[in-house]
Amino acid sequence: LAEGIHCIGCGALIQTTEKGALGFTPMSALKKGLEAEEVYCQRCFRLRHYNEIQPVSLTDDDFRRLLGQIADTDSLIVYVVDIFDFTGSLIPGLHRFVGSNPVLLVGNKADIMPSSLKRTKLTDWMRQQANINGIRPVDVTLVSANKAHGIDTLLAKIDKYRKGRDVYVVGVTNVGKSTLINEIIKSKTGIRDLITTSRFPGTTLDKIEIPFDDNSNMIDTPGIIHQDQMAHYLSAKELKFVSPQKEVKPAIYQLNEGQTLFLAGLARFDFVQGERNSFIGYFENNLMIHRTKLENADAFYAKHVGELLAPPTSDEVTEFPELQRHEFRTTVKSDIIFNGLGWVTVPANVTVAGWAPKGVSVMVRAAMV
Ligand code: GDP
Repeated sequence: LAEGIHCIGCGALIQTTEKGALGFTPMSALKKGLEAEEVYCQRCFRLRHYNEIQPVSLTDDDFRRLLGQIADTDSLIVYVVDIFDFTGSLIPGLHRFVGSNPVLLVGNKADIMPSSLKRTKLTDWMRQQANINGIRPVDVTLVSANKAHGIDTLLAKIDKYRKGRDVYVVGVTNVGKSTLINEIIKSKTGIRDLITTSRFPGTTLDKIEIPFDDNSNMIDTPGIIHQDQMAHYLSAKELKFVSPQKEVKPAIYQLNEGQTLFLAGLARFDFVQGERNSFIGYFENNLMIHRTKLENADAFYAKHVGELLAPPTSDEVTEFPELQRHEFRTTVKSDIIFNGLGWVTVPANVTVAGWAPKGVSVMVRAAMV
């Protein structure tokens, strides 16, 4: 039905199968559109009728081309990250395309960070992580897009640093960039019509410009898909289930050497060597954590994944990548991070192993709390 039809808004080829990709239109809307001889993709439809921005992602090549174009502008770059998944939020090579433009680093989803974690400590930590990745933000700020917290402070900072220039908002998919921009649009009563303007050269995507004043705009850019994110191995339903929606409550485990924690069937933590100690898990509060003996863990996983250890569900197990082992020896109190799922805080001088689906990283950092 959708063959060869183009959106009359942005010109993208209409398709009904891949939500979040260019040209997506639900089948029912396509039928209506064909009757009215006016087919819009969902993104353009919502933009026109609800003044609302929808997430859209691009392929690596298009995305890199687009970033290259930002380097040539004189603008403020607002870089949105998910503070619960900082490593999964990194844009490869961001420091190269930033050029000499200032970067305002925005940590979204502040609402899910444990309240035991001081906010100044969090922003210091974000700045440090940015520096490690070659980015020196002019400022760091925390927001919660879906709770509409911190929006006024963010807008004040944008105004302070943009000095009349355009603002480019960048971020990988799933960090909540669209939610944040829609919140900004809502709070800025002056904004009436979102406009799609010229195309980002070399890509199939139109720019969405949100006018700030007569001379400058805020420009939404598509998210890049970060292959390292757990999000790509889970269905939308499961993703909702493992992504914290509320404040994460730390869970304390007293572990002996030779014990294992399964994080549902998605990941695994082994205490390989060290004195009996406390380990603290920071995960979605309802994520099932199962303790077992390390020596039986392989067999236990093989037997129970998809059943007791779910997600993944039984019909997804065959598609789900094998867990891969990453070993760490700590010298200071550290966090073992399972990209997109959360982390376990471990004491100094222990050997531990983190297992995650092949393709998803497990990393170590100095403890955040
Ligand atoms: P985008 O791909 O970066 O545009 O991300 P979306 O705006 O589509 O949001 C991705 C997911 O994060 C959605 O499930 C949102 O509900 C959720 N989300 C966005 N902002 C927040 C926030 O401030 N706190 C929490 N807990 N979730 C958020």
